[in-house]
Amino acid sequence: MAHRKIWKSILAKKLICPAFKSYEADPAKIRVFDATHELTRSDGRIKMAGIGWSLRDTEVPVENHIYKGRIDDVFARENEILLVEYVSSIYPDIFKLVDAGISGAHFRFELGEDVKTAVVSRGGITEVPDFLVETIRETIESYTYIQDLGEEALIEYANPASGFCNYCSNDLCDRNRAIRNRQPALA
Ligand code: SF4
Repeated sequence: MAHRKIWKSILAKKLICPAFKSYEADPAKIRVFDATHELTRSDGRIKMAGIGWSLRDTEVPVENHIYKGRIDDVFARENEILLVEYVSSIYPDIFKLVDAGISGAHFRFELGEDVKTAVVSRGGITEVPDFLVETIRETIESYTYIQDLGEEALIEYANPASGFCNYCSNDLCDRNRAIRNRQPALA
C-alpha cells in the first residue's frame, strides 16, 4: 500500500504511539510557538558559539518516501557536525528527542554522513544518544507495516504511549477520552 509522506514531527509522535492522530492547532498558539521557537533559536546560537560551534546551515530539508521536514540548524566544530533542533521548554520532551533522532538517522544512514544530533532547550544542550538514533532507524522500518493495520487494530494493539497524549485527536482512544474528561487515564 502506498503511504502519504508525513511531517517528521508527526512521525516522531507516531513512533511513540502509532495510533496518534495529528490535530488542527489553534492559529494563535502557532504564532506564540513560532515566536518562542525563534527566541530559543537566537539564544541557542549564542550558547553554541560560546562553546566553539559555528553555524554552517539552517532549515535543512530532511525528506524521503515516508517523511518530510527540516532541521533547524547545522553546526560545525573542527571535524564534527552537529544537527540541532530547538525547543522553548526547559527540557525537551521525548518526542522532540525522537524528532531530532529521525534527522540524525536520515543523515547517518541515508546520506552516509557522520553526524551527531542534539536538542537545544532553555535548560541546555541534550545530545541524542547513538543507540536512540539506531533504534529510531529500525523502528521506522517497522512503521509502515503497523500503519497498514486498520484503525481499530491500531487502537487495540498500537497505543502504548503514557504521559504523552496531550495533543492527540484520536477520538477512538480511551486514553484520549480520559484526558478530555479530565479523569485518570486508563491503565
Ligand atoms: S491519546 Fe491514545 S491514540 Fe493518542 S497518543 Fe495517546 S495513546 Fe495514542
